[in-house]
Amino acid sequence: MNMDTRLDCMETMEVKGKNVDYKVTNVGPVIGGEGFLFVSENTTFLLDNGFAFCAEQMVENIRKVLGDRKLDYILLTHSHYDHLSGTPYITRAYPDVKVVANDHTANVIVRDGAKKVMRRMNEAARETYDGNEYEDLTDMLRVDIVVKDDDVVDLGDFRFKVCGFPGHTKCSIGFYSEEERLLLSCETLGVYIGDDKLASQYLVGYQMSIDSIDRALALDIDRMLIPHTGLAEGERCKSLLRSSKDLAIEGAKEIVYGHREGRSDEELLAILKEKYYTSYVRSLQPEAAFDLNAGYMISMLVNELADDPNF
Ligand SMILES: [Zn+2]
Repeated sequence: MNMDTRLDCMETMEVKGKNVDYKVTNVGPVIGGEGFLFVSENTTFLLDNGFAFCAEQMVENIRKVLGDRKLDYILLTHSHYDHLSGTPYITRAYPDVKVVANDHTANVIVRDGAKKVMRRMNEAARETYDGNEYEDLTDMLRVDIVVKDDDVVDLGDFRFKVCGFPGHTKCSIGFYSEEERLLLSCETLGVYIGDDKLASQYLVGYQMSIDSIDRALALDIDRMLIPHTGLAEGERCKSLLRSSKDLAIEGAKEIVYGHREGRSDEELLAILKEKYYTSYVRSLQPEAAFDLNAGYMISMLVNELADDPNF
């Protein structure tokens, strides 16, 4: 395993679990559109699935890994288009697959307004990546098993408890297997930014993100699937989560104190960029995409914390 923990497209990691052995492969055809395919003796499932324009390529990648086997489940961590737009292409290829998501995600994907946004974002992604024309299947998005926090989903070889980890979005969830001490994480808990650090992608709430990271830190974790990244193991899981919490607190202080000192939005953006837009992230994420998210972070932090006398 490389120290970056990142699984590039079609890279596989083999895991000897506590009760079950499995392989994890990143079947995402492009950077930013990752999907992680888990294969064990009796169970196959995909965690998140990226953009629409390259979804057929993802289906091919899944077929390459699974051969004649079926895909049993798709698990979705939240309702953002870059995590679920591949779903209808995969459900068309594997009609028996069951899509698992929480109620918020299930409600969002059937709303006309949300579909419009997803179509627009997917088209923008295609342009950014210079991708090919593609069939629009947004209307075929579906969720088959709607879950809520603390539900247990039994996938056969894996039993996952649904953990609400709001902060990136209100609907962000992770999946935790107590038997395997395996956490399928989400962007609230952080994405890898190099130098053995995670950065929480907190967009909708500061305190709720810190609380979510604390909830994850309280779990027994031997392995953690990090969104857009790959699988971390051992002690490193907790140290990565702690780095995410530390960085979230530091970032919030710098932004909020900077705002109080009268720094402009551009100056605040520069502060975040210095912290989070590392050379590692720079190699993976276009600057415009970073700036867009950073803008949301800044207004969230200022709105929530600027007038808080205790912060
Ligand atoms: Zn997201």
